[in-house]
Amino acid sequence: MKYTALQGTKDLLPEDAPKWRYIEDKIREILSLYNYKEIRTPVFEQTELFKRSIGDDTDIVQKEMYTFQDQGKRSLTLRPEGTASIVRAFIEHNLGEKSPLVKLFYFGQMFRQERPQKGRLREFNQYGVEVIGSLDPLVDAEVIELGVRINKAFGLEGLKLYLNSIGCKDCRPAHRDAFNKFVKDKIEKFCQDCQLRLLRNPLRIFDCKNEKCIEALKDAPMILDFLDAKCKNHFKKVREYLDQMGIEYILDGRLVRGLDYYTRTTFEIKSEALGAQDTLIGGGRYDLLVSELGGKDTPAIGFAAGIERLFLVLEMQKKFPLEDERLDVFIAPLGEKEKSLGLKLLKDLREKGLRCDLDFLERSLKSQLKEADRQKAKKVLIIGEDELKKGKGTLRDMETKEQKEIEFEKLVQELIRA
Ligand SMILES: [Zn+2]
Ligand SMILES: [Zn+2]
Repeated sequence: MKYTALQGTKDLLPEDAPKWRYIEDKIREILSLYNYKEIRTPVFEQTELFKRSIGDDTDIVQKEMYTFQDQGKRSLTLRPEGTASIVRAFIEHNLGEKSPLVKLFYFGQMFRQERPQKGRLREFNQYGVEVIGSLDPLVDAEVIELGVRINKAFGLEGLKLYLNSIGCKDCRPAHRDAFNKFVKDKIEKFCQDCQLRLLRNPLRIFDCKNEKCIEALKDAPMILDFLDAKCKNHFKKVREYLDQMGIEYILDGRLVRGLDYYTRTTFEIKSEALGAQDTLIGGGRYDLLVSELGGKDTPAIGFAAGIERLFLVLEMQKKFPLEDERLDVFIAPLGEKEKSLGLKLLKDLREKGLRCDLDFLERSLKSQLKEADRQKAKKVLIIGEDELKKGKGTLRDMETKEQKEIEFEKLVQELIRA
């Protein structure tokens, strides 16, 4: 029997783990500057929560969720995204009563049973933010600027910010009617999938990658032309704030979301490096979701981002810093007693915060030095019989190849100084 990782899952191997940590650390650092607090929610929830929040007629709920019955015959689902759980936690723990504006961030695995040919992972990692409690366009601008800032902090080039407003429950119906009529009138120009979308969730037609459909949508009524005074003003303010901060953006009427609780500002940050799968961050307002899930009427905005994708772009643009995981010292003992002393020294050095290791394979001195080289050790401490008698070891500098004798008692001090 040969076991392999399941399709759509991936091991993060030691050579890549430091890069992953680099990504997480940098993002956390920035989120802390912006005063966002971390939240961690369970990996599985009641199925109903996701159906309600993501929407029954979305691809995610229809085809992609990992849903199962537990021993108690409850229907549970591995989270396919982060927002639903966080809003659930926000309501459950009355976070809005403790503080009128809640700024949260999360990291975590998400699960979707995507078709394997798309090369997408079924267990993937996202980070994201949710700001719950303010309708002020100032918040929209902060969240968007934060998204831009994070990607810029990695030194990414070719970033583009796309921006739209999708209105509110007062002004959207008029657009929806006009849009549905537009599509119905030329239904034969759309692909099969889009014809189905027209019945279920017409705005999803904007997601279609089919050239025919993109062409057919060219003169479609755009939501921006249907915004009422309040939404228009909100969007104007968002843009003014972005201008003030020198954040460039591209207005994109195709940036829509099909579900009713999404409102007003939507945005995406894309990287030209990625080709078709180029979205690094997607976000927007969801002023009606908290009440949809049983909480008090509370406006909110957030974004989510895939870490695997960011990893890919950083790799392509060679933006990972060279890691410095060198050993401060490698201890090379040449016999039984020497090993025992080596282990003791190892413990002392580590207690002082030095990164070190020892040969555990009883190799010859030559092989040990080779190993030290492979580990990029700065120094090697050789402990042989002679050295042991004298109470001294031989400390070899791996760069200059210089060697000197050093008393074991002074070793810690010496290495800390170096
Ligand atoms: Zn409106
Ligand atoms: Zn189509």
